[in-house]
Amino acid sequence: MVKDDDKSGTGAAPAGGEDSLPPPVRALSRLASPAASLPGVGRTYAERLKTLGINTVGDLLYHFPRKYLDRSNVTPVASVKTGQDVTVVGIVRDVESRRTRNGKSMLIVTVFDGTGYMAGVWFNQAYHAEKLPEGSQVAFSGKARFEYNRLQIVNPSYDVLSGPDGGEESQAEGIHTGRIIPVYPGTAGLTSATLRKLSSRALELSGDIADPLPESVRQAFELVGLSDSLNEIHFPSGADTLRKARFRALFDEVFYMQVGLALRKKRQVRESEGIAHPPPGELVGRFLASLPFALTPAQEGAWGDIAADMSRGVQMNRLLQGEVGSGKTVIAVLAMLHAVEGGFQAALMAPTEILAQQHADRLSEMLEGMPVRVELLTSATTRRAAGDVTSGRVDIAIGTHALITEALEFPRLGLVVVDEQHRFGLRQRMALAGKGASADVLHMSATPIPRTLALTLYGDLDVSVIDELPAGRKGVVTVVADESQRTGAFAMVKREVEMGRQAFVVCPLVEGSEKLEARAASEEARRLAAEFPGFSIGVLHGQMKSEEKRAAMGRFHSGETDILVSTVVVEVGVDVPNATVMVVENADRFGLAQLHQLRGRVGRGTERALCVLFADPSTDEAKARMEAIRKYDDGFALAEADLEIRGEGTLFGPRQSGLPDLKLVRLSRNFDLIRRAREAAFRLVDDDPLLAAGGNRLLRWEVNRRFAGSLDWLFRA
Ligand code: ADP
Ligand code: MG
Repeated sequence: MVKDDDKSGTGAAPAGGEDSLPPPVRALSRLASPAASLPGVGRTYAERLKTLGINTVGDLLYHFPRKYLDRSNVTPVASVKTGQDVTVVGIVRDVESRRTRNGKSMLIVTVFDGTGYMAGVWFNQAYHAEKLPEGSQVAFSGKARFEYNRLQIVNPSYDVLSGPDGGEESQAEGIHTGRIIPVYPGTAGLTSATLRKLSSRALELSGDIADPLPESVRQAFELVGLSDSLNEIHFPSGADTLRKARFRALFDEVFYMQVGLALRKKRQVRESEGIAHPPPGELVGRFLASLPFALTPAQEGAWGDIAADMSRGVQMNRLLQGEVGSGKTVIAVLAMLHAVEGGFQAALMAPTEILAQQHADRLSEMLEGMPVRVELLTSATTRRAAGDVTSGRVDIAIGTHALITEALEFPRLGLVVVDEQHRFGLRQRMALAGKGASADVLHMSATPIPRTLALTLYGDLDVSVIDELPAGRKGVVTVVADESQRTGAFAMVKREVEMGRQAFVVCPLVEGSEKLEARAASEEARRLAAEFPGFSIGVLHGQMKSEEKRAAMGRFHSGETDILVSTVVVEVGVDVPNATVMVVENADRFGLAQLHQLRGRVGRGTERALCVLFADPSTDEAKARMEAIRKYDDGFALAEADLEIRGEGTLFGPRQSGLPDLKLVRLSRNFDLIRRAREAAFRLVDDDPLLAAGGNRLLRWEVNRRFAGSLDWLFRA
C-alpha cells in the first residue's frame, strides 16, 4: 500500500498537531481527517457522503458493506429456474418504457450477465429508470418468472453496484469465477463501486494503520490485524478470510465499548468521595423485625451487596433487578433506613405521580411508629414540605423526577433510589448524580434486561438480581383469546370478581393520543357497566387530574371498585394484592416488555391469577409476541425472546439508552463474545486504569475516537 505523506498534514489530530504525535498514533489519527481530504472527493461527493453519516476518513473505512454477493448467493441467468427466488448480477443492456393496453406505464430493464438475459419489470414506477442507466452493473433480486417470452422479475429489489463508467468493476461474470462483490448501504449518487473506490483511497491514506488493540488481546481472541481486516472487508479475497476480517471488526465494536465502560467505572470510583456507613444499626434492625416475613435468599443477597457498598467510602452505583413482586421495594426501604440512621436523607424517585403516591402510602404504612419522616413531593406539594426537605427535617423524600429537576436542596443527601430507572433518561440519571455529590445511587428495575443488554447498557453499574419470588405465589395463567372467545373469557373474569377478587381491564394503546386512549377507556367502562350491572366499575386514564387519579386508585385499593378500566397508566408498580385478573384489549399492539409489566400487576397475593390477552395478531411478529407471552412467565426468558423477535435495541429506544450504534454486534447472538470481551477489557483497565502504559496509549486514543461523540456520558457525565 502506498503511503501518501503529503496528505497527512490535513488530519484533524488532537491538539498539538500531528507532528508531535508518535508515528503509529499519527497514522491512526488520520482516521479523523475529513473525508473531503481524500483525492477525488469534491464538494458533491462530500455532501453525499455526509448524508450517509460519513464525515471523516475513519467513517469511510468503517462504512462497511451491507452484504456481499458471491457464487453462493448469485445465480447465473442460464441456471435460473422459474418460480425460484434469485439474485442475478449483470450489466444493463436495455431500458424500455412503454404503456400497457390499460394505460399503465411499464418499465423493462434488461441485464446481461455473460450467461443470459433477464429483465426487471415495474409498473407505474418509471422513476427507477433514472437509477439504472445502460452500462451500469446491477443486482436484481426476486421471484423469477418466464412471461411474455422473457425471463423476468416483477418489482425486483435491486442494488446498483456500479455506474455506466464502472470500468473494471463491471465484471459481472467475475462472480461466477469466485469474486466477491461488496454491496454498500448507499444513497442516490453513490454506487457501491464509488464507495469502494473511496474506501480504497482511504485505506491508502491511512497507510498501515497502527493497531490499537494490545497484542495480548489479539492473540487471546485469535484476531487478524486491523489493516488486514479493513482491507479484506472492502476488498474481500475469499469467504474464509472475509469471515475472519468481519469477526475482528465485530470484536472491536464490543471490546472498545467495554473498555470505555471500564474506564468510566474506574474513574467514578476514583473521583467519588463516597460515604462510609457503619454496619446496619437500630432502624434497619427494627424494620426487619417488623416484617411479617423473612427475606428470601435472593433478597438477603441483594441487601448484603448494598450494605457492603454503603460501608465502603466509594459511591454506590448499583442496579437492583428483579421481577415485579420479587420484593425490591423492601430492599430499597432497608437501604434508605440505613442512610437515615447514619444521619443522612434519602430520595426515592418514581416514573409517575401515581407511583410516587403509592410508594409514599406504602412506606408510611411500613414505617409506622418509626422515628422517620417520609414526605411526598409532587407538583402539588406545598412550599412548606419543600422547605422541610431543605432544612433537613424530612428523612425520606418521595417524588417523580421533579425531585431532581426542581431547585430542591437536600442538605445531606446520602442515598438516591431510582425506581424503574430505565424510564429516566441518562441525562436525568446524571443530573441526579450531581444533586448529592457523594450520594449512593440504587437503580431498581423490574424490566428484565437481557444479559447482553445489561452488560452493555448498564455495563458501568454493579448488578444485583433478585431471581426468585417470595414463596407461596401461585403464578399467573396467561390466555391469549380472539373475539370468538370473548364471552367465555369474560365469564372467567366474572367468576373471579364474584369470589371477591378484583380485575384490571387495560384499553388499547392509541399512539400519540392520550385523548383517544382516555375515550376508549371510558367507553369500555360504560360497556362493562351495562354488561355487569352488579359490579362497581372504575376508570383511570391520563386525561384525569392528579386528584381524580388518586381517588380512583384509592377506591380500587380499598376494594370499593371491582373492575378498574384503565389506559396503560397502571403499567408500572401498582400494587393491589387482591387483584387477580388482568384483561388487556388489543394486546397485540403492546410490546412484550409492556405486556409483561401489565401481567405483573396481578398474582401479587397468594391467589392464582389470570391474565387474558385479547389479540388478533396480523403480522408474524405480532403472532410471535403473543406466542412468547403465553409461553414464558419468566421475564428474562421473555426479554431474550423479545430480542430475538424484534432485533436489537427495542426494549429501550437507542436514544434513551445512550448506546452508540452497534452495527455488527447482535446482542441476541453474541452474548458469549460480549462476556469474554468484557472480562478482557475490565482486566486491562484494572491493570492500567488510565491506559497510560506505552502499549495502551493507542487503545485509549481509539476508545476516545469511537465514543467521544456518540457516548459522551462515557467521558463527561
Ligand atoms: P417489587 O418492588 O419487586 O415489585 P415489593 O417489594 O413491592 O416487590 O413486594 C411485593 C409484595 O411482596 C409486597 O406485598 C411485599 O410486602 C411482599 N414481600 C416482599 N418480600 C417478601 C418476602 N420475602 N416474603 C413474602 N412476601 C414478601
Ligand atoms: Mg416496586
